[in-house]
Amino acid sequence: MHELAICQALMEQVENIALEEQATQVTAIHLGIGPLSGVEPRLLEQAFSIARAGSIAADAELVVKSMPIQVSCKQCGQLTEALPSRLVCGSCGDWRTSLISGDELELTSIELVRDIKADESENLSAGSPVFTLVREESPEVQIYLPEDFTNQVRIGEPVVITVGALGGETYSGVIKEIGSGITGIGNTFPAKISITDATNNIKTGMTAQVTLALVNPNAGRLLIPLSAVSEDGSGNRFVYVISPEEGGEALLSKKIVSLGALIGRDIEIISGLETGDKVVTAGVNYVYDGQKVKISTQN
Ligand SMILES: [Zn+2]
Repeated sequence: MHELAICQALMEQVENIALEEQATQVTAIHLGIGPLSGVEPRLLEQAFSIARAGSIAADAELVVKSMPIQVSCKQCGQLTEALPSRLVCGSCGDWRTSLISGDELELTSIELVRDIKADESENLSAGSPVFTLVREESPEVQIYLPEDFTNQVRIGEPVVITVGALGGETYSGVIKEIGSGITGIGNTFPAKISITDATNNIKTGMTAQVTLALVNPNAGRLLIPLSAVSEDGSGNRFVYVISPEEGGEALLSKKIVSLGALIGRDIEIISGLETGDKVVTAGVNYVYDGQKVKISTQN
């Protein structure tokens, strides 16, 4: 159904605007539709009632304004209205006209409800993102995560929510959603938090503070000091692994590794080593594969 596809595209546009405007609800959508757009307003309204379900515009009214057909005359230069079946100049009657309007389907405006929002100039810092409660039933908290912290926050992680308007009452929540698009508010990403033990005291529009536990993004990564890595004549990156032997001696063996990200002074090992392997981190240019070394018990 043509009109349903149009409505779905329209809803996407409306949701983007609502997100940008930090709206909690869209109450009306105004469209301008020309008679030559190929869209039947009655069918569009039916399709709209399907497309809006469950969206931020679930209760929105669709206001359709029929746009006039206007033509510009190539003969006399006048701009006049015309009929869909007769695109002739209303002034001189010449048929050599060009269509100025009448074939459009445009989103002219939307009406929305906006909550108290973060001041755009406000500095967002870790542990104190600004947020707005988004819904009254099963309340959610909208926060704007600074870009630098997005990889340290995980969906499902517990958070503590403190609502100032309720005398600093604290609630528990979990991170429900982390948006992929930058909001434009100081390079932040939108994220949603569900309040798991909400009471009726929490109202839409209240602001509060969210305390997030940042997850170590390096957890599970195998990191070694960059100084442990050498490159051989064939371009292979390698490290020397220390295997303890009897009598306080150890054997050095060359292990080719593949490298991942550089994190501070450490480098991530993608393959070639296992957790717990001991590697030579200093003087790597002075040792060789198969060398026996004595392990010092001092540092
Ligand atoms: Zn004319």
